[in-house]
Amino acid sequence: MSRRLTKCLIANRGEIAVRVIRACHESGMHAVAVYSDVDANARHVQLADEAYAIGAASPADSYLNATKLIDVARRSGCDCVHPGYGFLSETETFAAAVLEAGLVWIGPPPDAIRLMGVKTEARARMQQAGVPLVPGFQADDADDAAFIAAAVTIGYPVMVKAAGGGGGKGIRVVYDPARLPEALAGARREAEHAFGDPRLFLEKYIEAARHVEIQVIADSHGHTLHLFERECSAQRRHQKIVEESPSPLLTPERRARMGAAAVEAARAVGYTNAGTVEFIATPDGAFYFLEMNTRLQVEHPVTEMVTGLDIVKLQFAVAAGEPLPLAQADVQPRGHAIECRVYAEDPRNNFLPAIGPVLKFIPPEGPGVRVDSGVQSGDTITIHYDPMIAKIIVYEATRAAAIDRMHAALDRTVILGTTTNIPFLRALLAHPTFAAGEVDTRFVDTHLAELLPDAPPLPDAALIAAALEDWHQQPAGSDRRFAPTDDASPWARGDSFRIGG
Ligand code: ADP
Ligand code: ADP
Ligand code: MG
Repeated sequence: MSRRLTKCLIANRGEIAVRVIRACHESGMHAVAVYSDVDANARHVQLADEAYAIGAASPADSYLNATKLIDVARRSGCDCVHPGYGFLSETETFAAAVLEAGLVWIGPPPDAIRLMGVKTEARARMQQAGVPLVPGFQADDADDAAFIAAAVTIGYPVMVKAAGGGGGKGIRVVYDPARLPEALAGARREAEHAFGDPRLFLEKYIEAARHVEIQVIADSHGHTLHLFERECSAQRRHQKIVEESPSPLLTPERRARMGAAAVEAARAVGYTNAGTVEFIATPDGAFYFLEMNTRLQVEHPVTEMVTGLDIVKLQFAVAAGEPLPLAQADVQPRGHAIECRVYAEDPRNNFLPAIGPVLKFIPPEGPGVRVDSGVQSGDTITIHYDPMIAKIIVYEATRAAAIDRMHAALDRTVILGTTTNIPFLRALLAHPTFAAGEVDTRFVDTHLAELLPDAPPLPDAALIAAALEDWHQQPAGSDRRFAPTDDASPWARGDSFRIGG
């Protein structure tokens, strides 16, 4: 039944390619990287055993080019392909082409990807399986008049969503019936542009909602496990910023019900490999299926920290046909983990990506700190790809201790040359609502002004001076912040030594 995998093509770039390469090496496999013209010296290329150029920087010419990717896999003698997340990870035709080429696909069956990829189809299937859904309206031939009538029945506020949606795109919240037509037009345009599919549907907009998702993993022998939850309610424009596990919202009873619902959802589509079932949850105990992400998720390290499992190695094992090496009762999460997504972006300028060179990047280290990154000093953040610099993940015994540890880790993260969202992340973590575990999915958007620290950015000369200091060699004091002795010094500005800003 099972087949030994020896060499994997990683059809991705950046931190997730690095993450998968590590799992390959730990599993005794060779890792083959691909790179676009601007990624020739990237970290994932350096860490791989072999690397192949696949074209120009534009994703359509390289990381989204299925033919080139499969050609490299064949030429280099790979026996499997890991797609990471984004790019072709949820494209069922790519998964099918990989299988047709006689390679093992490190992901779910193409049929499951297709079913879950269209949200309206996924909703219909989940309804049959008895998984609770957000009240909504969908019809293949629905025109604006049908949506307008349905919105009255559902009751405002409503959410307009794209059937092909992902990454927070094609979503509009509508409170005022008079604004529904323009929201439909806007969402349709965005959906057509982003997904090549203009189809829309409506959901009741759940206010004060929490995003709680369940990690699942299934083998090809009929075993489907859940690896408990991650809460990802800290979002800006429906995109996650900070994720944690366990969720401060869940009781043990509710956690068990959500875990069971996620396993049911996965079974209903014949799922194998790793996936995530996303739910929207309300403070009163209700929860509803949102979507299933049929791939490894950005925030999977949070689950790895609390369960002690390596999800990517499990992906390889089940794809090779091995049975899962553990049962549900063996999955016993401990402690608390938090992940922050560190981006090259300017929160004070509408979160615009801050493209340009990263002169120096010194990731934080220390007990209970993990950094997943594809960026190293000297790299350039370009317009072509996601401007994420790193994911910082911390682990501690309790939530409060994990928050403290994250503050300390962000404090000692050195990123010079580009603006980052680190000051914004720190303000978010320091907010009393976050400390209370009460951030809902609207919180960041509605409290943005409080989360934008008004310290002016430090001058470049000061940042370069800091790079020359060997920041990491300083003794770990009670407070690692720089304490200027001279009021005229550039270090005296701002409320702390925030080099990440
Ligand atoms: P998560 O962060 O929970 O893993 P996201 O929905 O934020 O999931 O997606 C992760 C990555 O995949 C992001 O880079 C996002 O832009 C990309 N992505 C998600 N869905 C799509 C899609 N349908 N088409 C293109 N890219 C997508
Ligand atoms: P995407 O594929 O873009 O990730 P999702 O359906 O997962 O789309 O929704 C993205 C985010 O939007 C969710 O995490 C949640 O914060 C919010 N959201 C989605 N549907 C609803 C809803 N019906 N009510 C309230 N918030 C919602
Ligand atoms: Mg989602």
